[in-house]
Amino acid sequence: LRGGGNALEAVIAAVMVLEDDALFNAGYGSVLTTAGRVEMDAAVMMARRLRGISGASARVEVRAGGVVLVNRVRNPILLARAVMEHTAHVLMGGAGAHRIARAAGVPLCRPEDLVSLRARQRWKASLVALGAAKAAAHIDGDAHHGTVGAVAVDAQGVVAAATSTGGVTGKRPGRIGDSAIIGAGLFAGGGGAASATGAGEAIIKAALCRDTVMRLGRLSPQVAAARAVARLHQATGAQAGVIVVDRNGRLGYAHNADAMETALFDPAGGIRYLVVPQLKLPRLRAGTGRR
Ligand code: ASP
Repeated sequence: LRGGGNALEAVIAAVMVLEDDALFNAGYGSVLTTAGRVEMDAAVMMARRLRGISGASARVEVRAGGVVLVNRVRNPILLARAVMEHTAHVLMGGAGAHRIARAAGVPLCRPEDLVSLRARQRWKASLVALGAAKAAAHIDGDAHHGTVGAVAVDAQGVVAAATSTGGVTGKRPGRIGDSAIIGAGLFAGGGGAASATGAGEAIIKAALCRDTVMRLGRLSPQVAAARAVARLHQATGAQAGVIVVDRNGRLGYAHNADAMETALFDPAGGIRYLVVPQLKLPRLRAGTGRR
């Protein structure tokens, strides 16, 4: 971005670093399904206002691509981009998505190359603690999160978001979370771009990222992020977090989970790590839905 690069390249580069790091639940080191396998979801989305038109009538060009249930690539975000750039589709899954990898030159790997020692140990521990049947139902709460995401705006005013995940510990084979679902795990529009983490079932129902971006303009990114997370909490009682950038480069981030590791880069200030405090939200009555 400092050298005039574009927002799409920036979010993909950031997410690839995190996918490659076993500490995060994306790419290598993803959590495992109850069957002990990796199944990853990832997506990218970008938006730009078309030149010469401003105000409420501004037309916005958006592009998006995503993959679900993939286990043959180390960097699912590259495959998501390949879907956007090499197909007429937005979301592809499983074998069909892997065929795109071959055509687009995205390197393939073996499913077992994605399994870290830590993920295998956590999987065993969750099966022992809960029993395989209960583990399938236990998909948030103690679940190991660690989905990765990035948002960026470039000098041309293009905004982009990217999200990548292994999902949630104890998920059933075939479960698809929010991370590759446009509007839920990521969104880019005329106002800005957002990426989410947390309990996927709740994020899908709340359309968390679209909700956040649609609040921009009326609200600062910081307030938009906080209100969108508060609304999800109110509706579902679940834990989630969102990062957002508006088209003027202002940032927002909010979560109601125990923690959300967050960092920002701007050309003047470089990289800064942030401690984002948990949103203070009213406790919900016992029995209010968790997901
Ligand atoms: N949102 C991800 C999913 O539900 C998990 C996470 O963010 O930890 O697949």
